[in-house]
Amino acid sequence: MYRKLTATTIFNGYQFLPKDSVLLVDENGTIVDILPATEAGNDVEFFEGTLSPGFINCHCHLELSHLKGKIEKNTGLIDFLGKIMVERNATDVEISTAIASAETEMLQNGIVAVGDICNNTNTIPQKTKQHLHYHNFIEVAGFPAEMANARFEKILEVYHQFKTHFSKTSIVPHAPYSVSTALLQKIVDYADNKLISIHNQETIEETILFQKKSGGFVDFYRRFNISMEAFEPKGKSSLQDILPNFKINQPLLLVHNVFTEEADVQYAKTFYGDLISNLYICLCPNANLYISNCLPNVEMLINNNCNFVIGTDSLASNDQLCIYNEINVLKKHFTFIPMEQLLQWATINGARALEVDDVYGSFEKGKTPGVVLLGDGVRRIV
Ligand SMILES: [Zn+2]
Repeated sequence: MYRKLTATTIFNGYQFLPKDSVLLVDENGTIVDILPATEAGNDVEFFEGTLSPGFINCHCHLELSHLKGKIEKNTGLIDFLGKIMVERNATDVEISTAIASAETEMLQNGIVAVGDICNNTNTIPQKTKQHLHYHNFIEVAGFPAEMANARFEKILEVYHQFKTHFSKTSIVPHAPYSVSTALLQKIVDYADNKLISIHNQETIEETILFQKKSGGFVDFYRRFNISMEAFEPKGKSSLQDILPNFKINQPLLLVHNVFTEEADVQYAKTFYGDLISNLYICLCPNANLYISNCLPNVEMLINNNCNFVIGTDSLASNDQLCIYNEINVLKKHFTFIPMEQLLQWATINGARALEVDDVYGSFEKGKTPGVVLLGDGVRRIV
C-alpha cells in the first residue's frame, strides 16, 4: 500500500518541485516515486504547507537536556561554561527523564538524525531504542598538554561503550581553547575516526586567547587552577592555529563560527583545496542568541560558498530542539537567504555531513528520509 502525498509546495532536499507533484511513499516510509498529479491516480492526500524530508540536527548535547531553563541568557560563553560545570549534576532519574522527553521533542519537530556530543554514557539507554539516527561525537577536553594521554585513555572507555551499540561514533575535540595540540593530534590520528566536530570561534575571547594569551579564558583557567604554561600564542586566530592539525580528507564540522572572519575562511579554503567540501559550517543561531546575543557573519560565509548545516545545540542554551525554528530565526535575521537554501542546509547538507545521505536528507527513490509538513509549525507526516 502506498500513500500519495501532495501539498502547496514540495521541497525534495535540493529544490522546490514543480506544482502538482505527488510523492509516493510505501508503508515503511520508503520513497517509491515522485509523479505529476496527472499520473498519480486517485486517493492523493493534500496538505496545506510545504512537505520536506525530515531534518538533520548536526549539533546537540542530549545529555544536557535536564539543564533546560537553568542557565540565564546573555551571560557570554565563559560564564555559561562555568554554570554548566556547576549545574550539570543531577539525579539519574532527572537526567534520563529529560533525555527521553528531549528526544520526543526532536521527533515531533521532524528531526530524523542527530549529531550528538557526548561526554558520558548517559544517553546510551535512550539511543538504543533507535527512535532517531545518532552520530555520537564522544567529546574530550584537556588544555594542559601533560593531560593528553590520561584524558584520551579516559574518553576511550566512553567511546568503546558507545561503539558496542552504534557504529557511527567518533572521538572529537571540544574546542580550540580547551584542547592541547598533543590531545588534538591523538584525536585526529585515532584510526577509527572518520568524522570530527569541534566548537569553533563561539566567543571573541577564544580569538583573544590565541592572539595574545589574555582575556577571559586566562582568568577562567586561573579560577579553576588549570595550567596554561605550555600554551604559546602564535598571533593567529584559533581556527588558523588549529586547522593544520586536521587531515583534509577527514570531514570536519565547525560548530558556531560566531567570530569567524573572512581571512579564516580563505585560510581554510587554501588548506583544504579541492577537498573543501569536507569542511562544514554548522550554524546554531538560537544558542548564539541565548548565550551571547550575537550571530555569525552569515552573509560573508555565504559569499565564500561555505557548506552549511544546522544544529540546535542543547536545551542548556535553547528553549527548544527544533531545526525548523532555527531556520525561521535565520530567515528573520538574514532575510536575503532563500527558504530553498535554508531547507537544503537542514536536509541534504546535514545528511551528507553525518554521512547518512544514502537514507536521509532527500526525497529520492529507495531512501527513508521521513516526511514533514511545514507551515506555522512543523509536523511529522511519515
Ligand atoms: Zn555545543
